[in-house]
Amino acid sequence: HAKENGRGKFCVFAAEMNQRVFEYLWLDTNLRKALEQDHLTVFYQPKLDSDGVVRSAEALVRWNSPERGMVSPADFIPYAEESGLIVPLGRWVMLTVLRQILAWREQGINLRVAVNVSARQLIDQSIYSDLKLALMDSGLAECPIDIELTESCLIENEAQALTLMKQFQELGAQVHLDDFGTGYSSLSQLARVPINAIKLDQSFIRNINEQPVSQSLVRAIVAVAKALTLQVIAEGIETKAEEEFVLLNGVDGRQGYFYAKPMPAEQLGHWLAKHPARV
Ligand code: C2E
Ligand code: MG
Ligand code: MG
Ligand code: MG
Repeated sequence: HAKENGRGKFCVFAAEMNQRVFEYLWLDTNLRKALEQDHLTVFYQPKLDSDGVVRSAEALVRWNSPERGMVSPADFIPYAEESGLIVPLGRWVMLTVLRQILAWREQGINLRVAVNVSARQLIDQSIYSDLKLALMDSGLAECPIDIELTESCLIENEAQALTLMKQFQELGAQVHLDDFGTGYSSLSQLARVPINAIKLDQSFIRNINEQPVSQSLVRAIVAVAKALTLQVIAEGIETKAEEEFVLLNGVDGRQGYFYAKPMPAEQLGHWLAKHPARV
């Protein structure tokens, strides 16, 4: 019996492996093609400042696959990181965003855009020179792009990450630490890293009014951030109650489905016209 059991387990394991290999191969062919054939698109989610005014949006990539429909970045960014495809993909996102910002300006819409950058992109370094060159080309006097990095960027190659973060800031980009509180970084680390803001992870915000521990954590994080003159942005706000909590506790920026889901660029133009400052 033991032997049979063992073999059964092995079969399940092999089947899983098979599926993973298959998925890797599928992504390997199709994500590359998507990048070449223009099947990627960028959605934008508005970010509210403490006065309720939207001055920036977050760029979130989407893949419109003929085979699978809209694929979430959660399903392909990890693969893109592993394969290195994140480098050309990230360059495409950056250039697409900059082009969109210029198009919005023609329409009288003045927005900054935050772009997500992953550890692998930082290590490659070309994302910084890409932005610098594109800015020079654009003729813009100021950098309208901000950078969202996760704590994992600091773990993989801290010295290099810190240098690049400073360079981004010198270029005029704000650097935001994304998903704060889910990784391994500590509050004391915040004093050493060149950042302008932290984005509290959604898991803190979810049902915050029923979560006394999350409430204490958020208050403590806000207090430390204030002492270090860092902005605090809450992401993933879905309800009025969640909004009330963050407003009462000194959070500066707000973002979430409660205000708007990520949407195509043209739609954001309409959304902005219909949503003046929310105070
Ligand atoms: P993130 O940067 O932390 O982005 C927040 C994610 O939460 C987004 O998921 C957004 O659509 C979602 N979200 C926003 N508000 C709410 C809310 O109120 N409730 C809930 N449940 N979710 C909300 P998305 O678009 O699927 O992106 C997932 C992750 O993929 C991002 O997390 C980011 O780490 C990564 N990503 C997206 N675009 C890019 C990109 O261009 N480059 C890189 N390197 N990573 C990207
Ligand atoms: Mg982000
Ligand atoms: Mg986040
Ligand atoms: Mg995230």
